[in-house]
Amino acid sequence: MTSDMAPGNPGEMTIRRAGAAIARTPDGIASGPFWAEWLLQGRRDGEMTAMRATLDPGIRTHWHSHPRGQLLYVLHGVGLVQRAGGIAEEVRAGDSVWFAPDERHWHGATADSVFAYVSIQPVQDGTAVRWMEPV
Ligand code: MN
Repeated sequence: MTSDMAPGNPGEMTIRRAGAAIARTPDGIASGPFWAEWLLQGRRDGEMTAMRATLDPGIRTHWHSHPRGQLLYVLHGVGLVQRAGGIAEEVRAGDSVWFAPDERHWHGATADSVFAYVSIQPVQDGTAVRWMEPV
């Protein structure tokens, strides 16, 4: 994924216009590509990364974790979220989900609905996510 905004969190108020940094995701992170729009691209410890994601029906991320946790806010559609050892639970527009630091989990669209969300995840040791095996 690429962005026209310099890496790191901006040092002053910054408006990013809708659609300025939207791209299809690379292979190896989900059961298929989805749309991801960078909203923030932190690089240093404690900075934030944030994105808006839109998944087609049936698309699920691989198992993964976030070193400093992740807040996920559902914009529209119906999604599924599951942590390791738990059950897959449905989430809908307006719901939010907190995944704890290093908690193995995945999120994805149900078989018959798109799933769009905003996620926010801080950076630690140069990354905001660690990808694992497919669900
Ligand atoms: Mn996640």
